[in-house]
Amino acid sequence: MKRRKFIQNASLSTLGIAVGPYVFASEIKTSISEEKDSQNNASGFPMVIATWNVNDSTAEAWRVLQEGKSALDAVEKGCNIEEANAEGQSVGIGGLPDRDGNVTLDACIMDSKGNYGAVVYLQHIMHPISVARKVMEDTPHVILAGKGAEQFAYSKGFEKTNLLTEASNKAWKEWKKTSQYKPIINIENHDTIGMLAIDKNGDISGGCTTSGLAYKMAGRVGDSPIIGSGLFIDNEIGGATATGLGEEVLKTVGSFLIVELMRQGKTPQQACEEAIGRIIKKSPNYKDFQVGYIAVNKKGETGHYAIHDGFWVTKYQNDKNENIASDFYDKK
Ligand code: ASP
Repeated sequence: MKRRKFIQNASLSTLGIAVGPYVFASEIKTSISEEKDSQNNASGFPMVIATWNVNDSTAEAWRVLQEGKSALDAVEKGCNIEEANAEGQSVGIGGLPDRDGNVTLDACIMDSKGNYGAVVYLQHIMHPISVARKVMEDTPHVILAGKGAEQFAYSKGFEKTNLLTEASNKAWKEWKKTSQYKPIINIENHDTIGMLAIDKNGDISGGCTTSGLAYKMAGRVGDSPIIGSGLFIDNEIGGATATGLGEEVLKTVGSFLIVELMRQGKTPQQACEEAIGRIIKKSPNYKDFQVGYIAVNKKGETGHYAIHDGFWVTKYQNDKNENIASDFYDKK
């Protein structure tokens, strides 16, 4: 299922539903973890896993890994594919704009040594994840924002690009006809690419890149570029990344949580389920939004879990590039 279609389905089914019951994280069935673990226990590396159906991106990352290059190179090049895809209205060129019609991008990258770089509220640059890598490697800082990030990108040779495609401009104009100018969370319009890779040396890196929530308030930054929320890597343990309503991921520091749960002995699947459980416990209105997590441990075992149906992941491992439907919490 395509990302957009899923989120529309989720939104239709939840529209108008009152606040859901308060649910304790411990009520989440552990049997799901056991069943899913047996499906996810393919291990080994090199490997790459990403949020949503992004076969071209994982194929590119796999190609880089097969050349013997680092997981860091793989996630950057893999994410670049989706960033350059003008059809995708959630990442890079073609991303849906904020409520003022500006496409603003968030991205981050983290390597196996614990280095991290990010850009937030970046405009006019097609490959924010590559700018994030430059922030990590060429500056004493970890996050650059807005105009400063844009100027830095130009200084590194990135070209100014008009990211608002005709299709996204049209969609924004349609939205303006009916939407009120106030902070409405458009649950139909959020998704992102988060990618985790392990190279032939067993070293782990990750990246996350997005245009964020469509029609967001000007200046809004989501979870995707924020270390520990949209992405976290600890080369001794594993990595995790997120997609969905960034505000909820930020409030529970989801990706760091997942890595710490794996450190305590949980499988990637169990850790993703626990992190989703944490959101459900804290947010009684979880029926109105989606969050999905993916995780990998040091052995190359993976996990993925979402609040609602329709979350897909793409995994390239053992010479197979496959789309996998993720399990989810809200079985209605
Ligand atoms: N998490 C991203 C954000 O909130 C977008 C998404 O994954 O849908 O900006």
